[in-house]
Amino acid sequence: MKILCVLYDDPTNGMPKNYPLSNIPTINQYPDGMTLPSPKSIDFNPGELLGCVSGELGLRKFLEDLGHTLVVTSDKDSDGCAADKELIDADIVISQPFWPYYLTRKRIESAPNLKMAITAGIGSDHVDLQAAMDHKVDVVEVTYCNSRSVAEHIVMMIISMVRDYHNQHAIAKSGGWNIADAVQRSYDVEGMHIGTVAAGRIGLDALRKMKPFDTHLHYFDRHRLPDSIEKELNLTFHESLESMVKVCDVVTINCPLHPETEHLFNDELISKMKKGAYIVNTARGKICDKDAIARAIESGQLSGYAGDVWFPQPAPNDHVWRDMPNNGMTPHTSGTSLSAQARYAAGVREILECFFDKTNIREQYLIVKDGELAGMGAHSYSKGTATGGSEEATKYSK
Ligand code: NAD
Repeated sequence: MKILCVLYDDPTNGMPKNYPLSNIPTINQYPDGMTLPSPKSIDFNPGELLGCVSGELGLRKFLEDLGHTLVVTSDKDSDGCAADKELIDADIVISQPFWPYYLTRKRIESAPNLKMAITAGIGSDHVDLQAAMDHKVDVVEVTYCNSRSVAEHIVMMIISMVRDYHNQHAIAKSGGWNIADAVQRSYDVEGMHIGTVAAGRIGLDALRKMKPFDTHLHYFDRHRLPDSIEKELNLTFHESLESMVKVCDVVTINCPLHPETEHLFNDELISKMKKGAYIVNTARGKICDKDAIARAIESGQLSGYAGDVWFPQPAPNDHVWRDMPNNGMTPHTSGTSLSAQARYAAGVREILECFFDKTNIREQYLIVKDGELAGMGAHSYSKGTATGGSEEATKYSK
């Protein structure tokens, strides 16, 4: 079989000769008891860069020993790109949300042998799920592999935005010492109302992590959490998103991108938010209307916007979020720490082992199966596609 793997570029100066830490902590299970990825074996050292082209998700030996062909490229967007050429006779495509290979209907229809699209990470919105269903291409992801990595990033972003860390660091770095400049937008998080749009694995973990800061916690989700968790965290559940955003100082977005959530944060919803609120979006860029966010930052309706997700990716060099005021954006990194890479590389290997052995892939990993939304796909997505406009990724130049 032919496996096409689309990964992000290597570091500018080549693969690292060594890493800051010689090993990464061992984690035995996820908080709800789900086990970590458990392939029969791995051919990489956890803690190494695996998500870039030379890292190859540690898959080459495994696949070639079984007689399969592995093609790895980062060239994924322009007409005639390497990924499009290799896709035509590929059986399996692996891609990461950080550097998504947008599997549009046109691309899916160019690949008659395609059987499965694996997301090395979480979030399969870069695949036209409707086209995958129509063409019986299964879509799977490594559920939970980086949910807690993202929750850590959310905490970092909430606190750094509210306290205005970026501005203060810039002052220190440039040799300055004007304390008034440094604190004129700086607040404590303590006592604030923090709300999450979706309290799935990431949203709930972010709430748990914010609890010790003595904040008031809110959530909105299509699935209500168990009573015991609501009590444990003293959560306020909202029947509507409008009801939540009007009382929150900080709103963090943690639902998947699918037709129901595309451009959810538009001018209208933002105008209903508490004046001066902050948004932290590590879910998907397209859940927000980018120009509506920029307008709200400009007018002061929002005090700050941070996140690591953009649309499309890579974001065009002139994307308005790159240099709007009071933004704390990073490139899409929260779920691809070296710790997370070890988990999702092992998860991809587990999925491939199941596929070749014809054993069941874990239910929690399924998004589309046999032409229908399945597993987490049925729980967290809606039918249709959210890939429209992804061709704009060609506007980025290195
Ligand atoms: P999850 O499936 O555990 O949780 C998703 C939650 O969203 C579910 O509780 C679901 O009920 C809720 N939801 C779906 N549609 C909704 C809607 N219309 N309104 C309200 N709630 C809705 O997934 P997770 O692990 O928490 O990840 C969530 C998303 O975060 C992923 O789909 C992905 O887009 C994003 N993510 C980003 C990164 C990153 O690196 N930035 C990494 C992992 C995941």
